[in-house]
Amino acid sequence: MHDIAPTDSDAARFLQIVRAAGLNAEHGRLACQLRSGFLNAHAEALVDNCLAALAEDQDFLSIKQVDRGHTLRQGWIDLLRSFGQNFDSPGYLVRRLTFFAACARAGMPLNLLLLQHSLIQRNVVERIAVSGVTTSDAHKLTDCALRIGALDLYLVAEGYHLPEIDALRKSLQALRGEVSHLRWRTSVDQLTGLVSYSKLVEILAQQIDLAQARRQPLSLIMADLDFFKSINDTHGHLVGDLVLRHTAERIQAAVRDFDIVGRFGGEEFTVILKNTDIEMAGIIGERIRAEIAGGPIHVKALNISITISLGVAMLRQDETMEALLERADAAMYQAKRAGRNRVVIAT
Ligand code: GH3
Ligand code: MG
Ligand code: MG
Repeated sequence: MHDIAPTDSDAARFLQIVRAAGLNAEHGRLACQLRSGFLNAHAEALVDNCLAALAEDQDFLSIKQVDRGHTLRQGWIDLLRSFGQNFDSPGYLVRRLTFFAACARAGMPLNLLLLQHSLIQRNVVERIAVSGVTTSDAHKLTDCALRIGALDLYLVAEGYHLPEIDALRKSLQALRGEVSHLRWRTSVDQLTGLVSYSKLVEILAQQIDLAQARRQPLSLIMADLDFFKSINDTHGHLVGDLVLRHTAERIQAAVRDFDIVGRFGGEEFTVILKNTDIEMAGIIGERIRAEIAGGPIHVKALNISITISLGVAMLRQDETMEALLERADAAMYQAKRAGRNRVVIAT
């Protein structure tokens, strides 16, 4: 059975229901009289009467998890014996919610639960009528039984839906986890750990807006490994993958902490340089080039020398993202044509 811990707002809402049912201290005393006068002594008989009335019901017969009705029977007897006892306390709320939630988990249909409740109410009222108390007292006791019964009815509805709410909450939690995992997967390039293409484009668009709004410079580097195909052709695709990973690490090592490095595609990388003019961007481009060309990459007992060509462009006033990317890309191709392993600044 699950623990039910009412929150402060549950407790406040419950007190409102208690007040709306017109219950006060006087009903507390009457409920005590009901318990000592009828319920304590007759609780078992009342519940057995109801169970007998339900015995023919196919739905009820099909409830297997209630160990032949024993748990259900005892739970109900306990509820009757505590009928209206400290009805305005959180304990009253918890005890009933827990029992009704357990009924729902056991597969008891809600209509049967409500029917059972009504049958017990009827029995209590009938017993008050034949108990020999004065008409005025009988009236008060009946009134009290019906009001507290209404409170219990409210708790039946609330408790009955708790397992459903519980299950929904759990699946919501699982979905949230999945969403954040998917978000992570789509924003990180799985081979290199760099920012993925889609995330890179998203960040670049944001940074362009910011730079234009703040009138700050923004620069972009497009970099493409030289003759990378021959590495795949010579050593195989897996070695090619490892070279890409090492390249990513070297680029990351060459830039500043706040620069954003992404994998634009196959063996192409992009660096977003916030608040950076073209002169500084050129220096960082050259640092990347030197880091890659600085020494061979060690993979699987191989020493693989590689170089990179880079194009650098600074955002113009009112320039679009596409135009900026095109200028950086064109500068990179210019670097290729000029002999590779170099940085070209876009005009
Ligand atoms: P260039 O200097 O003109 O850029 O020559 P290149 O050989 O680098 O250029 P090309 O575009 O002809 O080849 C790029 C190669 O990169 C081809 C493709 O198989 C390889 N490639 C792209 N993505 C990956 C990847 O994820 N892993 C590996 N191992 N290779 C990749
Ligand atoms: Mg290439
Ligand atoms: Mg390429």
